Amino acid sequence: MTSAADTRPTTIHLVPHTHWDREWYRPFQSFRMQLVDLVDRVLDMLESEPGFAFTLDGQLATIDDYLEIRPQQAERLRGHVRSGRLAIGPWQILMDEFLVSGETLVRNLERGWARADDFGGPMRVGYLPDMFGHVAQMPQLLRRAGLADAVVWRGVPAAVDRHAFRWESPDGSWVRAEYLPSGYGNAAYLFAVPDRLDAAAHRFVEWARPWFGDDPVLAMYGTDHTAPVPDLAALVSRLNEVQDASDMRIATLAHYIGSAPALTPEVPCWRGEMRSGARANVLMGVASARIDIKQAAGRAETLLERYAEPLSAIHVAADAWPDEFLRLAWGKVIENSAHDSICGCSVDPVVDQVLVRFAEAEQIAGTLARRAASAVAGRAPRGSVVVLNPTPARREGLVESELLVPETWADVAFELPDGSHVATQELARKEPILFDQELRGDQVDELFRRFHGREVFDHAWNGYRIDGHEITFLVDSDPDPAWLDVDGLRAEVVAAMRSAPDETWRALIVASARRTLAASVPVPALGWTAVRAVEATGELANPVRVDGRSMRNGLLTVEVAEDGTFSLTAADGTRTEGVGRIEEGGDVGDSYNYGPPPADRIIDVSEAVSVTTELEGPVRGRIRVSRAYRWPASAQPDGSARSDAVEPTDVVTEVELRAGEPFVRLAVSFDNRSEDHRVRFVVPLPRRSAVSHAEGQFAVVERGMTGEGGYHEEPLATYPAHGWVDAGGIALLLDHLSEYELTDDGRALALTVLRSIGLISRNDNPYRQDPAGPEIAIPNAQMRGRWRMTFAIAPHAGDWADGGVPAAAERYRHELVGAHGSAPADVTWPPDGAGAEAFALESDAVELSALRRRDGWVEARVVNLTSESRTAVLRGGIVDARDASLRGEPGAAIEVTEGAVRLDLGPAEVRTVQVRRRETAAGRAEMLDATGPRQNG
Ligand SMILES: [Zn+2]
Repeated sequence: MTSAADTRPTTIHLVPHTHWDREWYRPFQSFRMQLVDLVDRVLDMLESEPGFAFTLDGQLATIDDYLEIRPQQAERLRGHVRSGRLAIGPWQILMDEFLVSGETLVRNLERGWARADDFGGPMRVGYLPDMFGHVAQMPQLLRRAGLADAVVWRGVPAAVDRHAFRWESPDGSWVRAEYLPSGYGNAAYLFAVPDRLDAAAHRFVEWARPWFGDDPVLAMYGTDHTAPVPDLAALVSRLNEVQDASDMRIATLAHYIGSAPALTPEVPCWRGEMRSGARANVLMGVASARIDIKQAAGRAETLLERYAEPLSAIHVAADAWPDEFLRLAWGKVIENSAHDSICGCSVDPVVDQVLVRFAEAEQIAGTLARRAASAVAGRAPRGSVVVLNPTPARREGLVESELLVPETWADVAFELPDGSHVATQELARKEPILFDQELRGDQVDELFRRFHGREVFDHAWNGYRIDGHEITFLVDSDPDPAWLDVDGLRAEVVAAMRSAPDETWRALIVASARRTLAASVPVPALGWTAVRAVEATGELANPVRVDGRSMRNGLLTVEVAEDGTFSLTAADGTRTEGVGRIEEGGDVGDSYNYGPPPADRIIDVSEAVSVTTELEGPVRGRIRVSRAYRWPASAQPDGSARSDAVEPTDVVTEVELRAGEPFVRLAVSFDNRSEDHRVRFVVPLPRRSAVSHAEGQFAVVERGMTGEGGYHEEPLATYPAHGWVDAGGIALLLDHLSEYELTDDGRALALTVLRSIGLISRNDNPYRQDPAGPEIAIPNAQMRGRWRMTFAIAPHAGDWADGGVPAAAERYRHELVGAHGSAPADVTWPPDGAGAEAFALESDAVELSALRRRDGWVEARVVNLTSESRTAVLRGGIVDARDASLRGEPGAAIEVTEGAVRLDLGPAEVRTVQVRRRETAAGRAEMLDATGPRQNG
């Protein structure tokens, strides 16, 4: 049958592009040389072929990496971007969406967009061509940044049966999503044989028709690290001449999206995340490949988002905002969020570089947080300890510090600024004798060789006493007094010892009596308090009592069983037992996909168990459980089974309960000597559940026990969680992106604590047909050596919201920050400003994502994690407030009442607001100048 439509030529928008994996099976510097060649060629073609256009992979990293080598080409690039023939951005890097924090996704877009503005503006398309699935809130993030379109491939479910669909976030906001049915390289080989263009064009139109119907067709010409053929414009002209079934035009992706027909009501609508393997690998195993990368990412992101930025914004003067350092640290984190980098599916040298970048980000963020704490410590007298709360809610938390305590004191409490006393637990007592030697008086210079000015053995020299021929140097970790004439003291000691040059002298270096004390103290929202040691007994709510194999704090009881697993019983009666079964099995898959050997052998029973009490309470109680296993050494070379050879392995689980905490903290560690295996920590659920809820990127997502497959990748229901995962009355509180699975038909949660694999991609992975990359060895991904993973478990009644899971996760993940008081001598106890609330966010299940300074304002980003409307109140000396876009562009004014703003948040809404506060810098209250710096957009 022939219709009029069949005779009309199909319009094909040919989008020449490249997909640039910046580092992957080769390291960055190696791929970059190829990138420079590619961009050189693209620039030449843009000038020699008037009909040519190019899309530079949606990430500004390609521009930055190129210009670092060819800075003289910036103007040329700018000219082509401005003309609309070269499309760049809007991302800084093509990230993985699931393996980084929501805030990292935002900063990536913010930075890429701002950088693209330097060159004439970004492509206004949320281009997401190769991400291993897509997060639920991406449509909302794009909309709030000013984008109405996304382009996606992996993860798109079978329910999407055409090239365009409506993609909605849990808040109801949506974008037009362009689906790339065969990926971002659907027309990569169209011009492979220049004298067969007619057939190639026909084949392409035939392939495209079911997806595009009568719509113009998007032909993505380019794939991984490829450059366009020279004379492409001429080839396109020739193609149009040799056949009349199609009419091809070269376009950028921005041109195509800009001219695409609007969505009609009958297009499919998909709400939420996309992790389907219906038509492409979703590669879910990257969540557990190279867990060391995920740990490093978690540390860097948490330090930046929840310590360095908020503590600097609140406690450091506005003009000392460390913008350049934060920019540098964020740059490293964004760079590492590239999908092949954070996923751990790259060669070992790439992973080494990824870890160094995270380490640098962590060093910067950690030092900035300590600097903010030092600024506060400068307001409290010496001998006291300031305690900062990084969370925007009043809370109690552990403070641990080494303090001067006279030997004679029997009971030691911490005094708070209001005069109340809290109980302490002594964790350690310092050995005071650091040095004890005899020497002759004329050897005094040898004695002083240990001194460097005032420093000796990492202590400050504070004084000395001489008793006959015995000299005692008094030292402490704190210099006291602050200033001391050390040269004068030294001259006195030298003179004394030289006066009896042939006598035997005894020299001692004695440190002040310090004890490491722990206590649970209340700290106001993003504010600080101070404590000092006093001889007294103190109060403690919900103290921990340890009794042999059990611990309780009135909120939770932990009892260790004979087999080394333990039971948890919450105050509300929620109970589970058999927690902590270690399930170790073979993995002959690769970095992308777990794949058990056909004849797998699971080891989940230990051969010996030992249990010891490490901390007795009342602030911290800890039981150490050591279990001995014999794990197979590796897989058989052919991958069919596990080896007969075994490696004896002791798995140590440190189980810690703290006063006042409704969850138990865990650290699982072992020396990993086995290869090709997966180790999981299994938690039986108090109630069977068909679904899990996991915190992800600005969302709580519900997932079942099966995934959608179809592309011959085993649709495992192993999922990533960022923050926490909850099912059947158990919440696992996480430090970093972790992989979990609801197993045993909904009766248990399994948390992957280690996955050891040896290849980027295995051609015969038992769980995947289509290789995901080259079969290159990555021996370091076996993760041999000492390994430690930490998390917490909170049993609770009701669902995650009833059970207060977000608040528990906030508390678990964000330890208080302590610093020794360092104020000048005239500052007295209690310090001014201690105990005052600084900046509070009041609401259940509304979380703070960011708090930072921007253009003279303090910018906060919050998210409502629930599917209901919530009202949140931001409070803290607010004098002026306004809405802002995700990228910080100012919006409408918000009413301020008594220093607070009320935010009515829709379900799952992500909201960015900017406020001006009545600032208190360096302890002096100052009204911010109302005519102060204004934002510049
Ligand atoms: Zn890629």
